[in-house]
Amino acid sequence: MLNLVFFGPPGGGKGTQAAKVAEQYNLVHVSTGDILRAEIKRESELGLKIKDIINKGELVPDDLLIKILENVFDSHNEADGFIFDGFPRTLPQAEALDEMMTRRSCQLKQVLSLDVPVEELLERLLKRAREQGRTDDTEDVIKNRLRVYHKHTQPLVDYYRRKGIYSEIYGVGSVEEIFQELCQIIDQNK
Ligand code: UDP
Ligand code: MG
Repeated sequence: MLNLVFFGPPGGGKGTQAAKVAEQYNLVHVSTGDILRAEIKRESELGLKIKDIINKGELVPDDLLIKILENVFDSHNEADGFIFDGFPRTLPQAEALDEMMTRRSCQLKQVLSLDVPVEELLERLLKRAREQGRTDDTEDVIKNRLRVYHKHTQPLVDYYRRKGIYSEIYGVGSVEEIFQELCQIIDQNK
């Protein structure tokens, strides 16, 4: 099994690259952001609970995410592997992911991070706001998401570095160039 985490700030390109890599290696692409947005859209109990949190750019509580991940694992018993895009976002989530993997006798192979300067992130997210109208892509909320990222998610870099599975690439360039670079790292370490 090939299990990967795509790591990086909002607007870093995780979603775009994760979709391509998932196709290339036949992995299940798990975007927790997409899962949460789908819950909001269908106005489920969970969706109603998390709508305001997401619209403020805050983090959905760990226990809810962990439950979602358990479901994902249980509904893809036959998968060749997973790409987690946008998860984990906190240390307890990272620890829970390790534990879920261990319980299923698998492990996280690599954490791939896309490094993009903050001015470029803002520009990309504002462009996405104009094109897709995501309710959390307003300038204030974007700035809060970046703050939340630095405070809660960035510290995971150390956690994964210590495990020796962290790689970072510069995330500015053409989609194809970055994709090739990611594939190279994956092939070297899989
Ligand atoms: N979110 C969260 N936990 C997750 C994924 C998403 O709390 O595991 C929430 C959080 O409020 C975040 C929003 O959903 O700001 C959008 O997440 P997504 O990953 O789609 O945004 P991206 O980082 O790709 O811009
Ligand atoms: Mg995304």
